[in-house]
Amino acid sequence: MFKDDPMMGKLYVGNIEVAAVREQLWTISPRWLFANAGYAVMAAHRDWLVPRFNTDDLKLKLSIHTFIVRVNGLTILIDTCVGNCKQRSLDTWTNMNTPYLERLAAAGVTPESVDLVFCTHLHMDHVGWNTRLVNGKWVPTFANAKYLFHAEELEHWQAQADQRQVFDDSVAPVVDAGLAQLVAADHELTDGVRLTLTPGHTPGHCSVLLGEEGREGVITGDMIHHPIQIAEPAVCSRVCSDVEQAMQTRRTRLAQWSRDDTLVLGTHFAAPTAVRIEPHAEGYRIRA
Ligand SMILES: [Zn+2]
Repeated sequence: MFKDDPMMGKLYVGNIEVAAVREQLWTISPRWLFANAGYAVMAAHRDWLVPRFNTDDLKLKLSIHTFIVRVNGLTILIDTCVGNCKQRSLDTWTNMNTPYLERLAAAGVTPESVDLVFCTHLHMDHVGWNTRLVNGKWVPTFANAKYLFHAEELEHWQAQADQRQVFDDSVAPVVDAGLAQLVAADHELTDGVRLTLTPGHTPGHCSVLLGEEGREGVITGDMIHHPIQIAEPAVCSRVCSDVEQAMQTRRTRLAQWSRDDTLVLGTHFAAPTAVRIEPHAEGYRIRA
């Protein structure tokens, strides 16, 4: 389990070490994120949501962190948060100045030591530290890494006017530097780490499977944002490209992870972040 601290600590999935480093812990109104759930839905689940996953006044606690996966001599980063100095449509994510790289270093990861970077999808809170500002230019942060992008996801955002700035400052410089590698939705990063397509939030969204037969652990990405969606899989974010598909993906995967007793590592879950689930009522619940 991870700690409620920017240095979240580490755990093991089989022989795979997974550490997590938080960029920020965000508290927001449920209605800001969810199209179909507000404070009343949170109140019905207060007994297990507060204080772990919601504040006392039932705001969502959303952690924005990077998972560091170490296996087979490789250092792999999954998702790269919001980043510093970016200009964004949200004030809170504009001109951020966090000690994210210092935290990565404290977890034993220097920018030069990263072998692979994978972004579950190309929204602004998952690609930010792909680049940093050096002498007024956006350059790849992890200069020795190969950045893997699911081809369909990259092509989707390449063609979008929406989020143009995000693509231009956090993805395009990586492509221009020759560090990008386009991969299929079932790509194996290394023995024991592979992608799986979990579409709906974005068209080419992928989660990351860990361990034997990909059943021991999963890094969710945004196919689920907050643990309320474990209990109520129909709760959907406002920013899903296909709400029906997102819901279907969540139902199918939650059933699978419950059946296989998979450790679920939530990309935006507050500590303890890693949970196992079991069937309960209309959905699932976190196993004690
Ligand atoms: Zn996100």
